[in-house]
Order: sequence, then C-alpha cells, then structure tokens
Amino acid sequence: MLKQIIPSKICLSCDVCCRFLDENASLSPIFLPHEITPAINPSLDKSGRVKLKPCEDIHTCPFFKTKNKRCSIYSKRPLDCRLYPFAIMFDEKREKIIIGIDKKCPISTNPAYQNSIKNYFHYLVDLLEKKEISGLISRNPAFIGDFQEDVAQFSCLDTLTKLIVNNPEKNGFKKISLEDKSEFDSFFEKIDAPDSGQNFVNLCIWKEKNPVWWKKNSQGLEILLETDFGYMDFNSLKKFPDYIYLTKAIAELKGNKYKHKRASCNYFSKNYRFQYLDYKQNMKNDCLKLFYKWARGRKKTFPDVYYHKLLEDSFSAHKLAMKNFKELSLTGRVIKIKGKIVAYAFGFEITKDMFCVLLEVCDLKFKGIAEFIFRESAKEMARYKYINTMDDSGLENLRISKLSYHPIQHPGTVLEPI
Ligand code: SF4
Ligand code: SF4
Repeated sequence: MLKQIIPSKICLSCDVCCRFLDENASLSPIFLPHEITPAINPSLDKSGRVKLKPCEDIHTCPFFKTKNKRCSIYSKRPLDCRLYPFAIMFDEKREKIIIGIDKKCPISTNPAYQNSIKNYFHYLVDLLEKKEISGLISRNPAFIGDFQEDVAQFSCLDTLTKLIVNNPEKNGFKKISLEDKSEFDSFFEKIDAPDSGQNFVNLCIWKEKNPVWWKKNSQGLEILLETDFGYMDFNSLKKFPDYIYLTKAIAELKGNKYKHKRASCNYFSKNYRFQYLDYKQNMKNDCLKLFYKWARGRKKTFPDVYYHKLLEDSFSAHKLAMKNFKELSLTGRVIKIKGKIVAYAFGFEITKDMFCVLLEVCDLKFKGIAEFIFRESAKEMARYKYINTMDDSGLENLRISKLSYHPIQHPGTVLEPI
C-alpha cells in the first residue's frame, strides 16, 4: 500500500484524474499482471493498459463512474493509479528511468504542498528502488511511459535504470552458466598471469551475489559484474592480488619460520582420531552446517562489518561450489572426527603448475585443524609447483592469516619471481 499524499476531499472535487483528452493517452493506467482479475481483464488491452471510453468530448477510464465521479474499483485500483500524480517514465534521451510529478494535477504547483511533495519523492524513490518492486516493474516494461513534457521535478530510479536501460542482455551479453566453463577456461589459459578472481569457478560460485554477464569480443571475453551499483566492467574493478606459496614449503613446513605451523599440525594429528576423506555429494548438508557454525565463530572473533557481510555472502558461494562440485572440476576433502564433518577444503587447478584453494572451513575448537588440512592439501597437490589461496579482500585478519604461511608472492611484495 502506498501512502497517499493528496487528501481525498481535494481529489473528489477535482476533474483531472481518470479523464483523458486523447484515446491513446500515454498516462492512461496500466495494470500489472497480479492486479488483473477476471472482472477487470475485458477492459484492458494486451499490455494491461485500460481501453479508454469516449465520453462527451474526452475519454474516460472504463472504471470511472461519471455519475458520482468515483472509481468503481477504488480498493483494487492499480499501482499506476495509486502513484498518480507521480509518473514513472524514460527521460528525454531514454537513458534513464525517472519519476516526476504531472503538472496537470493542481497540487503539483500548489506552494502549500511543495514540502510534502519533496518528502513524498524521497519516500517513493526509496520504495521503488526496493529490489522486489523494481523487479516487478522491470518485468512489465510497458509500465514505464515515454517522456512527458507535462511531468516535472524528476528523480532518477537507479535500480530500474540498471534493470531496463542498461540491461546487458540487450547488448548481446548472456548470464554465466555452467555450460560456459570451456569457453572461460580456454580464454583463461591464454592469460599470462591469471588471477584467481578471473577464473570461471570463482565467477560462477559468486553469481548469486554478483551475477556475471559475458560476451565474446575480438580480445577474448567481455565480462560484466552485476552489483548493487549497476553493471561494472570486471577488468576495471579494483582487485586484490593473490597469495601464492611454494607447494613443497607448505607440504613440508620445514625450518624455523614454520615451527608453529608444524607444531599445530603435529598437535592435531596426535590428539584427535580423525578421517581425511574425499568429499561426496551426500556430505553437502553437513558441510553447510559446519559453515554456519564457523561463520558464527568468525563473526564473534572479528568485528569488521565488511568481513561479516563477506561471510554472509559466502554461504551461497559455498553452497553453489558443493552443488556443482563435479561440473566445476573441484577437488574436495573433508575431515571427520567421531563421524562428524569438522573441516572441509575445496580447490581447483588454476594453471598446469598452480592449484587454487577455493574454500576452507574448519571447526576451530580442534586445535591445529586449519594448519593440518592446508598441509594435507599441499601434500596431495605436490604435482603443482604453486598453491594459490586467492586474495585477502582487503581484510586485515585474512592478510595476517595468509602471511603467516610465508607466501612467495603477496600484495606489495614479490619475494621470488614465479
Ligand atoms: S489530478 Fe491530483 S488532485 Fe486531481 S484528482 Fe488527480 S491526484 Fe487528485
Ligand atoms: S482505475 Fe480507477 S482510479 Fe484508475 S483511472 Fe480508472 S477510474 Fe481512475
């Protein structure tokens, strides 16, 4: 329900609404699909717009009762009528979707109402920017009228603009799907220094949070990321460099610099009776339960709100990775203690000599478990010279943790050319 800005008694004594000069008036109301009932349907055209009726020298809405000057379906009138005198339409260049107020409504120019109109604009923009409402309107583009000179005081509706005007589908982009893996893989192989974020696996598992759109161009692939702020060229986004390690160093944990990691691994293997197993699809739910527990613990330990958001968004990424484990050619391992999954790790081949650790989650009440599963992954992946644990998303806690394994390459420092 929309808040009403104009008192009913003013509308009831006004003769603008529901009456139109032209049979094809573009401000004639349109019904959204969920607003159409069998009784209303015969009075609408295919796009849901009312078929105006001639009435003396003007046209009226078929639901308008001229005798009492009232709407016969008032409680069921569509959003379009509830919005009036505000109207959603394209701007003059059809580059944006805007909302304005129709100057034909006497209230729009009444000085006594200017403050409430201003506040109502804010209220409407906030409401229409909500994902579910923008989504609903974008699925029914006929709802958006052409630019009208009679409409004034515009505000831009960014979400609708993003969904309708900048819609990448119109520009030949398609949404990423599992079938696109080979296309992305062959493109990725040609990159000199591939970054884990560009890999199909990474783009695909985050697609619920940031849908990915792509198309081929003469240079390879053009990739757009759908974000809360609009569609962004993937290559123009700020990226955090990956942390890269020598696989042998992690598998062996030799020397003084790894003595604490070695001690943690030894503690784990000596103190717990565990099983280190291949991931199977029937372990998905238990792994996701572990994710919840782990994420709760991380949130308590680290107050950074950005990290909390990342943890919340990660759930769908972990779920998608597990669900499409085979199609994404992932390697997955779990650790069980007393039959319960207490750690999992997933990764994939990023290049012929580099393995990427994509996800790693542990129940940290088992001391040394994180060090142990990372070392076991490295031992198993000895055929790859390097292990890549991706970036730190600019988060201090991840930076410290990743640095503690002595990467040969990390943000700001290349210790050894690879
Ligand atoms: S034009 Fe404005 S004042 Fe007149 S009936 Fe419509 S909304 Fe009410
Ligand atoms: S549906 Fe009702 S409020 Fe809307 S234009 Fe028709 S008569 Fe007026």
